[in-house]
Amino acid sequence: GSILQWPAAAARDKLLGGLLADGLDEGSCHSRYQSAMYRRNAGREPSPHLVSKLRRHEELQRRCGPGTAAYSDAVERLRSGKSGGIVSPPEAECRYLVSISYRGIGNRILAAASAFLYAMLTDRVLLVDPSNEMDELFCEPFPGTTWLLPPGFPLANYTSFSVDTAESYGNMVKNKVIRTDAGDAAPTAQLPAFAYIHLDHTSTVEDKFFFCDEDQRAIRNIPWLVMRTDSYIVPGLFLVTGFQDELDMLFPETDTVFHHLGRYLFHPTNHVWGLVTRYYDAYLATAQQRVGIQVRVFGSQPESPKLLDQITTCTQKEKLLPEVIAAGGVASAAARRQSSKAVLVTSLKSWYYEKIKSMYWEHATATGEAVSVHQPSHEEYQRFGARSHDGKAWAEIYLLSLTDALVTSGWSTFGYVAQGLGGLTPWVMHKPANDTAAAADPPCRRDVSMEPCFHAPPFYDCRLKRGADTGKIVPHVRHCDDVQWGLKLV
Ligand code: GDP
Repeated sequence: GSILQWPAAAARDKLLGGLLADGLDEGSCHSRYQSAMYRRNAGREPSPHLVSKLRRHEELQRRCGPGTAAYSDAVERLRSGKSGGIVSPPEAECRYLVSISYRGIGNRILAAASAFLYAMLTDRVLLVDPSNEMDELFCEPFPGTTWLLPPGFPLANYTSFSVDTAESYGNMVKNKVIRTDAGDAAPTAQLPAFAYIHLDHTSTVEDKFFFCDEDQRAIRNIPWLVMRTDSYIVPGLFLVTGFQDELDMLFPETDTVFHHLGRYLFHPTNHVWGLVTRYYDAYLATAQQRVGIQVRVFGSQPESPKLLDQITTCTQKEKLLPEVIAAGGVASAAARRQSSKAVLVTSLKSWYYEKIKSMYWEHATATGEAVSVHQPSHEEYQRFGARSHDGKAWAEIYLLSLTDALVTSGWSTFGYVAQGLGGLTPWVMHKPANDTAAAADPPCRRDVSMEPCFHAPPFYDCRLKRGADTGKIVPHVRHCDDVQWGLKLV
């Protein structure tokens, strides 16, 4: 199953249809050019417009990024609190977006991907907050520059910015520090040197004006933005009329936004890539089919026979895994070894894996297929900021993305990242309303697309200036199946 055994794959476009720039040092990041050889599902083709936009954006990151004179100037102006002029600074001036990294790895990946798309749409340099091992888990995505915010950033406390920060866009609108009703011509309006964009689950109506056209016009010329989100805000960007033409050209297939951005940005570092490839080669490569099952358990949730039953009925009903026959039954010799399936279970607990494995050892399958069951780790509890913990989590997300069929737990950003990277539309297991509720029926449902769900969307119609169902405004933005008020691209 290693690269050498796959001559056809060796010829496959290692640059993912032009998505990746050529010429980066392969030794510093093996995953960038090797991942194509591990993917049976080659994924979707990026549009020519996306490919050329990426190359132009990389050029911007190099021209304005850390280490350049433009960067030093911009940092100095931020330090002295200057915005670089009234209303319209020269177009050539570099503008920046700093993306705060917090919460679990799935959240951090969705936040960085969202920030990157916004940076591309608004010609800003993306700089990622290196907290929480962002520097140790991912290779640099842009050739010839760094995407990590360097030490010495003048807004020393930016990682503790919150809904109460006076410089948040929402608070500046509320306090009339920024006015969107004055129009572009307002002669004396002094722009702030920076704005904090607060888009997590605590954001206010004013914070979410971010998804409106006139607010985007007000934000455009602010030299520095610092953004906090733990969610995939991309469906919200599709609501902004001013972005729609460009988004249509970048993504003629609207259900592939994270698929392409994720494969472009997130390459496991060599240590994590070792975890991925050794596990894949040892346990998954030789099977005829690989099925991924993501079992997200929260807190000290007990081992749940009901959830185990949901997993087995889902996989059998959807014909992802074979049924088993009564103990003592023997599969027909003819069917033996005709087909093998490897199941990759990821979970904080090992109980579900143990049960599934025992089931396929103690019983024959109705089809005669051999089923092997594997789980790389069981960390028991979710921990924040623990180094080896995050490396394993990232490796497991990546391994799930290398499977041929994927079953996920609704609500989980961990699963969203795996499905998007893999180009897999998952079967989603929905949570029953509470522990005593009847078992979920059906046990799982095929999702409407492989895109992640935006959990904290706006509920406001910018043009009508009143509350609205944002899942009904533009054709490709709908509500999610797993989080009913959430928004997703289809
Ligand atoms: P979400 O909370 O499900 O949306 O996903 P996140 O990735 O944002 O946060 C969950 C965190 O818990 C992860 O970053 C991991 O550290 C840990 N975690 C959850 N499920 C698993 C798992 O199956 N395997 C491993 N190794 N860690 C997990």
